[in-house]
Amino acid sequence: MDQPNSSLPSDFIRDIIKDDLRTNKHQGRVVTRFPPEPNGYLHIGHAKSVCLNFGIADQYGATCNLRLDDTDPTGESMEYVDSIIRDIKWLGFDWEDRLYYASDYYEKLYQYALQLIKEGKAFVCDLSPDEIREYRGSFTEQGTESPYRNRSVEKNLDLFQRMRAGEFEEGAHVLRAKIDMTSPNVIMRDPVIYRIKKENHYRTGNQWCIYPMYDFTHCLSDSIERITHSICTLEFENNRPLYDWFLDELKVEYHPQQIEFARLNISFTVISKRLLIELVEKGVVSGWDDPRMPTLAGMRRRGFTPEAIRDFCERIGVARNDSLIDMALLENCVREDLNERAPRVMAVLRPLRVIIDNYPEDRVEEFDCPYHPQKPEMGSRKVPFSRVLYIEQDDFMEDPPKKFFRLAVGREVRLRYGYFIKCVNVVKDPDTGKVVEVHCTYDPETRSGFAPDGRKVKATIHWVSAAHSLQAEVRLYDRLFRVANPLEEEADFTEYLNPESLETLRACRLEPSVSDAAPGSRFQFERLGYFCVDTVDSSDKALVFNRTVTLRDSWAKIVNKGNK
Ligand code: ATP
Ligand code: MG
Repeated sequence: MDQPNSSLPSDFIRDIIKDDLRTNKHQGRVVTRFPPEPNGYLHIGHAKSVCLNFGIADQYGATCNLRLDDTDPTGESMEYVDSIIRDIKWLGFDWEDRLYYASDYYEKLYQYALQLIKEGKAFVCDLSPDEIREYRGSFTEQGTESPYRNRSVEKNLDLFQRMRAGEFEEGAHVLRAKIDMTSPNVIMRDPVIYRIKKENHYRTGNQWCIYPMYDFTHCLSDSIERITHSICTLEFENNRPLYDWFLDELKVEYHPQQIEFARLNISFTVISKRLLIELVEKGVVSGWDDPRMPTLAGMRRRGFTPEAIRDFCERIGVARNDSLIDMALLENCVREDLNERAPRVMAVLRPLRVIIDNYPEDRVEEFDCPYHPQKPEMGSRKVPFSRVLYIEQDDFMEDPPKKFFRLAVGREVRLRYGYFIKCVNVVKDPDTGKVVEVHCTYDPETRSGFAPDGRKVKATIHWVSAAHSLQAEVRLYDRLFRVANPLEEEADFTEYLNPESLETLRACRLEPSVSDAAPGSRFQFERLGYFCVDTVDSSDKALVFNRTVTLRDSWAKIVNKGNK
């Protein structure tokens, strides 16, 4: 963890690759692949795998293929393929002309299945899915052989060809590998390799009514593409003997090496397409690109940068033990990146009117304000100043405690880039008693930020000129879940959604310089955090901003307080 950015990443997988290069294991070739199934949008867990596979290719002058692992017609679609392509490009990786689809290998895979049958290594089984499960046994119990296991090669060939021809109903037959029903590894107990599915496939339409299973498809697709290192997550560790069995029995020319690493888990969210689909379908979020989603589309819309996500993936590293990574670590990568490059502007999220009684009514000054205090090369913009301003409601208190240094009757503060102002009185709503207007006087001698008499103020607050400001909607996001690991809790994970994960503020006021900010542009709103123009809902008529991250990790503060 926390390697300096300048050093190239190093981990057990890269060690294996370095060794293989040294011993010339694959004639010096290194080919990896990223193999998503197009049945959902990519999430931050996929980003870890993308960064690993493409990162290795970049580091060792090797290549990485993008392969859509699309052999289950249920739930796969072109919309998902398009989203996957968009997201990986956005992350900054390139597969050049190596975009492959497992569905393009259907005929080859079918031929491999025929080969297994002919060699007596696969058979057509008529047991029902429930019976197959029952016969399989368990970790403690050996399996029982299927009564169809010893069918003749001829009979198997005939049945399998007729399966392909569509003669049978779904579930009537499956093709199974003939391995070992007594194997201690349940996965090796005559696994199913083909099943009948009379469903249209988004690419092959109704050409096929039998579809190969993942374990059979994956190793052979890797071999067809001459992959050298097939990197996958730990839950496939027990499938590795099966991966090797197919390749050995079929005597393929290229036998890739499967290597497993720990999947990424992040606190306060769920990272699994199956669960994310549920949130989308139930309408709990506005879609796959809802800025609260741990999807790349959601994070992009939220304002996260690809650089920050790649930095995060590098910092968490690659290991073989499962862990739960703190969401705050990812947010911190985003914060560090945006701190470097987001222009600073002023925005007031919950406005309170301030009248400067001694400032002429018709006067407007323009202050030249730098976009980044440490980076003059980022330039500056003009910010209008006039008699009526908005400040943040939080920056004023009627009965301030001792430690409150911002505005209160009789107190003086500095306006960011502007004058000292002193509060003289307030106007209240007669019905609610709420302060609706704050009256101040300004000191014309303090424009430089200093008082000639040397008096000091303890706070600087941000502001916008009321007449010049733009109205905007600002969406504040919080954790999607109330608990760190919703899957470890007793009830269904959706019970633990955070009801306050989205707060919409509709009366925000922004300085006029952001009026023509392009969708997706990112800013620091001074003192408030990093924000970006929403790419979906923002328009010339209605500005909408998303808060990307706060300026500091507000959760860390809460945790620290709790520990005291
Ligand atoms: P999910 O559980 O979200 O459905 P999946 O593994 O079924 O994910 P695939 O489309 O099959 O999704 O995944 C493509 C690649 O991404 C695989 O190589 C998989 O190992 C990797 N991957 C998926 N989730 C994670 C994760 N949380 N951390 C690291 N890699 C992941
Ligand atoms: Mg999968």
